Amino acid sequence: MVEEDPLTVKVDHLKENTYNKDDDVIKATSFEVISTLREVLKTSSLWKDHVQTYIQHVGDFNYPRLADFGAAISGANKLLCQEVLEELDVDKRLKLTLELVKKDMEISKLQQAIAKAIEEKISGDQRRYLLNEQLKAIKKELGLETDDKTALSEKFRERIEAKKDKCPPHVLQVIEEELTKLQLLEASSSEFNVTRNYLDWLTVLPWGNYSNENFDVHHAQQILDEDHYGLSDVKERILEFIAVGKLRGTSQGKIICLSGPPGVGKTSIGRSIARALNRQFYRFSVGGLADVAEIKGHRRTYVGAMPGKMVQCLKSVGTANPLVLIDEIDKLGRGHSGDPASALLELLDPEQNINFLDHYLDVPIDLSKVLFVCTANVIDTIPNPLLDRMEIISIAGYITDEKMHIARDYLEKNTREACGIKPEQVEVTDAALLALIENYCREAGVRNLQKQIEKIYRKIALQLVRQGVSNEPALEAVIVTPSVEPTDGGSATIVKDEKLNDPAVKDPEEAKEPSLKETLVTEPALSTDTLSTPEGNKDTDGVKEEAADKAVKKVLIDSSNLDDFVGKPVFHAERIYEQTPVGVVMGLAWTSMGGSTLYIETTKVEEGEGKGALVMTGQLGDVMKESAQIAHTVSRAILRDKEPDNKFFADSKLHLHVPAGATPKDGPSAGCTMITSMLSLAMGKPARKDLAMTGEVTLTGRILPIGGVKEKAIAARRSSIKTIIFPAANKRDFDELADNVKEGLEVHFVDTYSEIYKLAFQNETETS
Ligand code: ADP
Repeated sequence: MVEEDPLTVKVDHLKENTYNKDDDVIKATSFEVISTLREVLKTSSLWKDHVQTYIQHVGDFNYPRLADFGAAISGANKLLCQEVLEELDVDKRLKLTLELVKKDMEISKLQQAIAKAIEEKISGDQRRYLLNEQLKAIKKELGLETDDKTALSEKFRERIEAKKDKCPPHVLQVIEEELTKLQLLEASSSEFNVTRNYLDWLTVLPWGNYSNENFDVHHAQQILDEDHYGLSDVKERILEFIAVGKLRGTSQGKIICLSGPPGVGKTSIGRSIARALNRQFYRFSVGGLADVAEIKGHRRTYVGAMPGKMVQCLKSVGTANPLVLIDEIDKLGRGHSGDPASALLELLDPEQNINFLDHYLDVPIDLSKVLFVCTANVIDTIPNPLLDRMEIISIAGYITDEKMHIARDYLEKNTREACGIKPEQVEVTDAALLALIENYCREAGVRNLQKQIEKIYRKIALQLVRQGVSNEPALEAVIVTPSVEPTDGGSATIVKDEKLNDPAVKDPEEAKEPSLKETLVTEPALSTDTLSTPEGNKDTDGVKEEAADKAVKKVLIDSSNLDDFVGKPVFHAERIYEQTPVGVVMGLAWTSMGGSTLYIETTKVEEGEGKGALVMTGQLGDVMKESAQIAHTVSRAILRDKEPDNKFFADSKLHLHVPAGATPKDGPSAGCTMITSMLSLAMGKPARKDLAMTGEVTLTGRILPIGGVKEKAIAARRSSIKTIIFPAANKRDFDELADNVKEGLEVHFVDTYSEIYKLAFQNETETS
């Protein structure tokens, strides 16, 4: 500064150092600056303007100007730019500029990356939004849109439109009201959901939609026979039902209760009845059911409320006249709030169920066309009001002969098919089946028999597969009769196709287990040298594979090799005594598992003046204990009458036992057996051989009727008892039994104990 006012300055022009224009380093650096600038220009539109200005104002182009320009537009701070200006060495100056420009380029790249990331994020969000919109549109199109109220009510309206003619008007009215309500509710509110579910149930039920019933009695009979052997009373009852339906033109609902021991076909006949009548089948078990809501439904106000079983049934079967099987009705539980039995009564009673009211549904539904079939093991525990409305059909269990038929014609056939075995591949002889029934499956039902048969067939299947049999390709069944007759008439025989020229195939298991009495027989003519011996065929397994498909093998099961399939017999003879000794008499008992025989044993513990007393063992219930006391008193009276001098009861302490000691027993029906046992001891006379009896006794010696006549008769037959004594009042029950049950039994019906006395203790000529 030269002078302050006016401001005068002395200017000295800075001149760059001289430089060589053709210097390679300078050139190269300048090119680098230019190319970097170009790079930057691409990304930043801001710079374009600068370049324009530069080109306009600074026409000619040289290195120092380039350096200045680069630094100027680099956006670097003042100090750095000043540094460039002050540098007089052109080369250094260019380098400084290059540095600044490069830095700028980095910044610009970073800026680009940031921009890109932001842009991506924004477009991703947009895409999602777009897709969501599309999804909504698609859902709406398909009627899946959940919160679209109009679509929802449209769906319900469509559903009910189809049933409008048959639907009762009061239901239509409720549906209409609910639909209006649905429109007013907020879609996200909980009440909306309740209403929606409610409408869903209301509209899905088969209002007035009945399946066409088949009233053809012959057809029904055919189906019933197809599925079950025997059970004539049940079948007859069903046919009657169909006949009434045919005459009236409509069917009415009814309650049938099938009672009997497990495995006698109660459940399966229910299914069969449905098939015969062409009704839909629905089964629910009420065993242990304690909650009334299971039957009557919950009120809609509860969270997660559901309608009762009956409404669920109607929904699932889709017709208003199904057959509903209520299983185990005798095991109905007791509710803490409300009584399931009464609820069931409302459901079953034909007077009430025409307007059955489910708490959830809240509109009466007509169940009068539903056919109810209940099953129970015992009827004593069924609540009385329920029992009153049912028609009881009892199935007592099967005798050996019936079991044979069932096993042959039903169980075996089904099992064979289920196991994929062909009839020609297996033969179970009558003797084997009989042994199976008599020694393994003596209970009343056939479920265990079915299990044993399944066991046998599974084992056979394994044997066949081990031998390489495959049932898929059609086999050419050429069965050769065994040339070696089994000596004991009971060994399983595997017969091979004669075309097979290979060494005999041997089951590996067989080699290990010589007890499995199977002999392999080949056509003797062609394979004498290859005839298998248990030792000679251990390494033939490889050959087996290829030969397998050509071979047809048959497994024979007889009584002698039955053990190999089902193990040792589980039942020992029920009869402990061949001839009952003094003080022991056979009685007949009835349990929920069917009938059985049991012994009543009495012995003397000690004797002495005035020692008369009675102790009892054998897990006896109160009723049975009382009945023993009664028997003691009655026997004393009878003995006084028959042998006035006999002081036995007055002076002896008696012990009465009922084996088996681990089984709890109760009931009054052993009364007469106990008296006979005590009298036998008192008189030192054994009771008549092969005699069994049952009957409740009063203090005066009268015999009262008992239950389970058929079961008891079957049990007596099983134990090969010839003579049975029943109360006279049970004569009708016995007469109604099928002939094959009564056959060969000598039955006496008695009114008072003195008749039993005659039968048991006086010799046969006297009694006859
Ligand atoms: P439950 O309900 O009485 O305990 P199920 O109905 O389950 O017994 O019957 C058990 C099995 O026995 C079923 O496979 C059934 O097919 C068979 N069964 C029972 N009785 C007969 C019969 N009379 N004829 C053919 N199969 C029978």
